[in-house]
Amino acid sequence: MRRIVTATPLIPLPGQIDPVPVARDITPREDGRVDLIGLPKKRIAALFEEAGLDAKQAKLRSRQVFHWLYHRGVSDFEAMTDIGKAMRPWLAERFVIGRPEVVEAQHSSDGTRKWLLRTADGHDFEMVFIPDADRGTLCVSSQVGCTLNCTFCHTGTMRLVRNLTPGEIVGQVMLARDALGEWPKGRMDIPEEETASEYRADGRLLTNIVMMGMGEPLYNYDNVHDALKLVMDAEGLALSRRRITLSTSGVVPMMERCGQEINVNLAVSLHAVRKEVRDEIVPLNRKYGIEELLEACAAYPGASNARRITFEYVMLKDKNDSDEDAHELVRLIKHYNLPAKVNLIPFNPWPGAHYECSDPDRIRRFSEIIFEAGISGPVRTPRGRDIDAACGQLRTAAEKKSRAERDREAAAAR
Ligand code: SAH
Ligand code: SF4
Repeated sequence: MRRIVTATPLIPLPGQIDPVPVARDITPREDGRVDLIGLPKKRIAALFEEAGLDAKQAKLRSRQVFHWLYHRGVSDFEAMTDIGKAMRPWLAERFVIGRPEVVEAQHSSDGTRKWLLRTADGHDFEMVFIPDADRGTLCVSSQVGCTLNCTFCHTGTMRLVRNLTPGEIVGQVMLARDALGEWPKGRMDIPEEETASEYRADGRLLTNIVMMGMGEPLYNYDNVHDALKLVMDAEGLALSRRRITLSTSGVVPMMERCGQEINVNLAVSLHAVRKEVRDEIVPLNRKYGIEELLEACAAYPGASNARRITFEYVMLKDKNDSDEDAHELVRLIKHYNLPAKVNLIPFNPWPGAHYECSDPDRIRRFSEIIFEAGISGPVRTPRGRDIDAACGQLRTAAEKKSRAERDREAAAAR
């Protein structure tokens, strides 16, 4: 397939820790058509009206199209059987139903699946699906690369950054449903109740979403907001907000708004409890320190014992993994009276990383200290290690491969 390359400017790197300006919400296409994925229903109606339909028609058609897009997952106007035969080519001339392009798809022996995806203007990003006994979690990216340079994170080493659009974010969920075969197969003319039961009877694998892929979601707030609204919309992908978690490295000024407006579960990448260590491994800490961050957590709308905040803590050997660190973590959680659980994440090494993963015994002891204080502190089992399913690693592997291919080509030309 030919790659469409348009002159989408990359967002200028704002330096280590400043917010990224929000990109436009529609990525222009070379063929001039507009991708409908990621647009609110009202916007679709407005576009239909601009294209020549009268207001009533535009509203009706937008409702029908929206249902086909998000309930049925169709990606071809011809499949929209309740829309007149003559109308379908009219739509196809002006609009498309996009999906991110799949550059590479990998399947781990433990069931984890990972995709390297590409935007219409040629930027690569990742998505990971992690099946468990009782749930299936899709890890969604919010940006291409990340402007924050956490030193243990591979994405943090990537320079080129562009915010993903709402369509590219929600498109990941749609693509995962495509790949997992999770669209209901029914017809449009059956009653809504039947549709609903058919949906549940589907026994879907994809039950949870975490905004924990590439990028800092709170530095692409508007697009993440719009995308998650479509994911949660009862007429959209209809996933409960209780099954969605947004992970931030600590963009304090955006946290309250996120809680109020999106109202999903919050995960915070804490990773260290001492200023000098967190300053080093999560440089955003120099701007928003630990105390400020934990105060914002305490004020997070909707946080309660039933809806706890998850603190992510990557285990780095001799860096943040001592008993004292664990005790300090407990002290802080209690001091701020936080409804919290802690996820201990074994560091996933990548070529060139300056850290090692803590020893298993050390991680176990760290976890015990947290549990002994009455706080849940499980150790996350690394998943998909055979396919490098950690942040940023598939993209780099693909880049390496293409460099190797280039070298071979150059050698052949000599
Ligand atoms: N930018 C957001 C969300 C994406 S990062 C954030 O930082 O929270 C998602 C999670 O992956 C973070 O908790 C991050 O610390 C973790 N992570 C990144 N690189 C990792 C590595 N090499 N090993 C283990 N966890 C890693
Ligand atoms: Fe960005 Fe999160 Fe990686 Fe830090 S851990 S560099 S914020 S993606």
